[in-house]
Amino acid sequence: MPTSTSDIIITGFKVYDIRFPTSLDGIGSDAMHQGTNGSHPYLQLLTNKPELVGEGMAFSNGRGSELVVAAIEAFAPRVVGKKFSSLVENMGNTWRYMVSDSQYRWIGPEKGVTHLATAAVINAIWDLWGKVTNRPVWKIVADMTPEEIVRCIDFRYITDAITPEECIELLTKTSVGKEDRVQEALENVAVPAYTTSAGWLAFSGDKMKKVLQETIDQGFKIFKFKVGSDLAADKQRLQAVRDIIGYDNEYQVMIDANQVWSVPEAIEWMKELVQFKPVFIEEPTSPDDVLGHATIRKALKPYGVGVATGEMAANRVIFKQLLQADAIDVCQIDSVRLGGVNECLAVMLMALKFNVPCVPHNGAMGLTELTSHLSTIDYVSISGRKSMLEAADSYRENLAHPCEIRDAHYVTPMDPGYSIGYTPGAIEKYLYPNGSFWTSEIGEKIKQAPKGGDGLLRE
Ligand SMILES: [Mg+2]
Repeated sequence: MPTSTSDIIITGFKVYDIRFPTSLDGIGSDAMHQGTNGSHPYLQLLTNKPELVGEGMAFSNGRGSELVVAAIEAFAPRVVGKKFSSLVENMGNTWRYMVSDSQYRWIGPEKGVTHLATAAVINAIWDLWGKVTNRPVWKIVADMTPEEIVRCIDFRYITDAITPEECIELLTKTSVGKEDRVQEALENVAVPAYTTSAGWLAFSGDKMKKVLQETIDQGFKIFKFKVGSDLAADKQRLQAVRDIIGYDNEYQVMIDANQVWSVPEAIEWMKELVQFKPVFIEEPTSPDDVLGHATIRKALKPYGVGVATGEMAANRVIFKQLLQADAIDVCQIDSVRLGGVNECLAVMLMALKFNVPCVPHNGAMGLTELTSHLSTIDYVSISGRKSMLEAADSYRENLAHPCEIRDAHYVTPMDPGYSIGYTPGAIEKYLYPNGSFWTSEIGEKIKQAPKGGDGLLRE
């Protein structure tokens, strides 16, 4: 190891409110989120070795970042003054420590804005761990024994679904063939990619067709489209998609409603869309409605359409219930909504036990870089099953470790750490509210954009 770990101490932190003006081009638009600006509150944990900085982040849409930044500023001091070695020697304990501030638990617990802050800090510790030991985060987990992986997990609230002993048994089974899967990771064929590039709700007509054709030409075979604002428009778009890709098994279509429907609406609307043969409907209703998802899944089963959710599932408890209630066909963990790598490991193991594939939720501007580690971890170390991962490619020039897709597969991240971070130019430009973009004429105009819900109340 290049550095002795025993004398590394967290000495301070910096938080940056970085927002990208995605409302300009409709990237990220869906039935629930219009005019949003993809934002990553970004944390640097500083150490007594200036070259070693642990980087973490959360996600939000524009103004939400103000609350997340405040939460990170409240949570990050919990690790300041701590020895790096004591933070990583039992990561399960470190995770429990991060969610144990009793004066903040009332506004969680373990969900929402406080959990986003937990994720930023926990992921920064994993990033630092990678840098200290000169390994990408997926490799840290690949190098662990089943017992060491289990030690990263806080099993409180989930032992009715899975126990540490069961996890060790599952992981021991998966460890057969692990070396071959590591080799596949090194050859960049561990994580197949699918794309939403053509599927944003603001894209229609010729723009949608042009982007779809471009992604087909790049080798993609699986595509996702946003639906849920206007049934006639949904049918028109999906018909246009099927006109291009046909109905044979070479290509797959998935659709995403981003929570706009009530349960009966979801079923009725989907009965109109099953003719386009989507593999699944993602987020058909409220992310908290476990039994609602189960009802929708049961209703759509005869049509061969599955249910996916998880990007806004608050924590491992919601995932536990989704799995126990047979409510999902695809488990979509989010790398910065769950409390960092540790809680993602817990959910991956539950998904494995319930035989549901884990497909992390993704997004551009930095999230993709984390999820390519998580999908690699799931394949190499947890499930041993190849899954797929959404590709998202806007604003990539701003990332310090942009991931790459080659032949519709993720190139496995090899830089030490968790691939978090932005170029100095990106921070200068997109730091909110005083970065050079946000003080430009167009930036100031976006700041004045409507906030949503307009028209619901009389003036
Ligand atoms: Mg989604």
